[in-house]
Amino acid sequence: MTARILIVDDVEPNVRLLEARLNAEYYDVQTAFDGPSALKAAQENCPDIILLDVMMPGMDGFEVCRRLKADSTTRHIPVVLVTALNDRRDRLTGLEAGADDFLTKPIDDVALFARVKSLTRLKLVIDELRQREASGRRLGVIEGAASRMSPLGGRIIIADDNAHQAQRIFDELSEDHRPVIEADAEKALLAARARADLVVVNATSTGFDALRLAAHIRSDDATRNLPILAIVDPVERGRMLKALELGVNDVLPRPVDPEELSARVRTLIRQKRYTDFLRNNLDQSLELAVTDPLTGLHNRRYMSGQLTALVRRAAFGGESAAALLIDIDHFKRINDTFGHGVGDEVLKEFAVRLASNIRAIDLACRYGGEEFVVIMPDTSLEVAARIAKRLQEHVAGSSFEVGDLAEPLNVTISIGVSATLDGEDNGPALLKRADDAVYEAKASGRNQVVVREA
Ligand code: GH3
Ligand code: MG
Ligand code: MG
Repeated sequence: MTARILIVDDVEPNVRLLEARLNAEYYDVQTAFDGPSALKAAQENCPDIILLDVMMPGMDGFEVCRRLKADSTTRHIPVVLVTALNDRRDRLTGLEAGADDFLTKPIDDVALFARVKSLTRLKLVIDELRQREASGRRLGVIEGAASRMSPLGGRIIIADDNAHQAQRIFDELSEDHRPVIEADAEKALLAARARADLVVVNATSTGFDALRLAAHIRSDDATRNLPILAIVDPVERGRMLKALELGVNDVLPRPVDPEELSARVRTLIRQKRYTDFLRNNLDQSLELAVTDPLTGLHNRRYMSGQLTALVRRAAFGGESAAALLIDIDHFKRINDTFGHGVGDEVLKEFAVRLASNIRAIDLACRYGGEEFVVIMPDTSLEVAARIAKRLQEHVAGSSFEVGDLAEPLNVTISIGVSATLDGEDNGPALLKRADDAVYEAKASGRNQVVVREA
C-alpha cells in the first residue's frame, strides 16, 4: 500500500533524510520548505499524508495545520505534526489545530512507518467515500461531523500479564477512558469482540503469545477494524517490525511514558471513531445508490447497469434472457380513495409478493412510481410468460391487507413480457418491447399478461 507524502520542514537536510527513508519504502514523496508553499502544494498535488514540522520561521506548523483543516479542499488530508520536543503543550495545541497524529524528532523509523501505514489506511476509506458521494454538500456535513469525533471515553482492553505494568497503564488511562485489564489472550479476544475502541497489547507478555493475539484481532470479522497499540521492548526491533507487519496500528516502547501513552491512545480512538463514522456513511451511501428506499427492491439505476451486462452476455452466449414490466392497475384510484399512505403500503406489499414469486437469480426492481421490472437471466420467453401469469393470478387472487383499512383491497396488475433476440439486441430495446406489451394489456382490459414476440 503506497501513498503520496508531502514533507514540510524548513531545514533542508531534515527533508532529504525523511525523503530518502520514505523513498526507500516506495512512497511517492513531495517536499516543501515553508508554510505558504506547503499550503500551495497541498492544494495542487493532493497528497495522501502531510508530515509537517512545527517549528518553522514565518508561518509555523500549527498555523499551516489550522489553514489546511479550514479549507474544504484539503481538510480530509491526514496531517502528522513533527515536534522537536516531547512537549505536552505542543501536542494539545496540535490537537486543537486539527492534527491527526504526532511524531517526535529525531524520527524513529518504526514509529514513522507505523504512522504512515495507519494513516494510509484511513485515507483509503476517506477517498472511497469522497468518490462515492455525488453530493458535495452531504460530504461536507459528513466530514464536518467526523472531524469533531471525541477522543475520550474509549473502551480500552489492556491485554497484559505483567500485573504491575498493566495497573500503571490502567491508572493512566482511567482518567479519560474506561479501561479493563485482561491477563490472557482468550479473554482479551472475547472482550474485544464484545465491544471495544482500542486494544493495548503488551508484546513482551510471557503468559500468552501477544503477536498471535494481534493477528487474531486483525483476522476476526468482528474486530478487524479495531485499533491495536503494542507495548514493545525497544531492543527487540525484529518483534516490533513483525507487530507492525501483522497490522498493529502503533507501537510504544517500554518503559511506557504516560504522556506519550495518553496522546497515542487519544489519536487512535479519534481515528477509530472517524473511520467507523465514514464507513457507516459509506455503507449507507452505497446502499442508497442501489436500492429503492420505499420497497427495498433494487432501483432503476442499478437495474439498468445489470441489464446492459446481462443482455450482452445473453447475446454472446446464445442464451435468452427475459424481462417483465409490471404496472399496477388503476393505482391512482387507490391513492385518491384511501390516501397516499395506503398507496405506499400497497407498493410495499406488492414488492414482497413480487420478491417471493421469482427465483433467486432473477433481479426485481422498482422502475418508478407503480411500475416494476424483473430481469430473468437464462430464461426463455415461454418460461417468463408462465412466471408472469402465476404472479398476475397470485396478486388478483388474494386481496391486500393494508394498514387500518376495514376491508382488504383488491389489487390487479398488468404485465408485459419480452425476451432477448438471437444476435443483436440491447437492454432498452428489450424493455421497450415489454412496455409495448403492457400498453396492450391495459388497452384490452388490464389484469392480464401480454407476451411480445420479437
Ligand atoms: P393504469 O391502470 O393505467 O396504470 O392507471 P394508474 O392509475 O395505475 O396509472 P397512472 O400512471 O395514471 O398513475 C400512477 C399513480 O401512481 C400516479 C402517482 O401519483 C402514483 N405514485 C407514483 N409513485 C408513488 C409512490 O411512491 N407512492 C404512492 N402512494 N403513489 C405513487
Ligand atoms: Mg403507470
Ligand atoms: Mg398503473
